Amino acid sequence: MNDHELIRLAREALPFAYAPYSGYRVGAALLTVEGRIFQGVNVENASYGLTICAERAALAAAVAAGYSSFAVLAVASEGESEPLPCGACRQVLREFGSLRVVVAGKKEKILSFTLEDLLPYPFTFEK
Ligand SMILES: [Zn+2]
Repeated sequence: MNDHELIRLAREALPFAYAPYSGYRVGAALLTVEGRIFQGVNVENASYGLTICAERAALAAAVAAGYSSFAVLAVASEGESEPLPCGACRQVLREFGSLRVVVAGKKEKILSFTLEDLLPYPFTFEK
């Protein structure tokens, strides 16, 4: 599964995004190390702070299916610029270790990052 195919799957989810407030739809496709793919979309709420990002929606679907090791996360939007994951999503993804993040707006250009680049100093909990 290459980056273009994974971005295509993230774009495939875009029509299912629930974004009546911002109108900014985001789709995600998360590839597990086993080769399974889980899609997610942003799910907005009238109480804005309760909105769930596409990245975390995909992650939750994967974890619910028993997966916790991830290789690549693709994120797509219909915007001009590439949709970088928000700080909350970076932290939640780091909980599960390392992965590569690829992002694309409506243009063909795909940007690629490591999660460590996006969040070099995550919060950790040690008793
Ligand atoms: Zn987010």
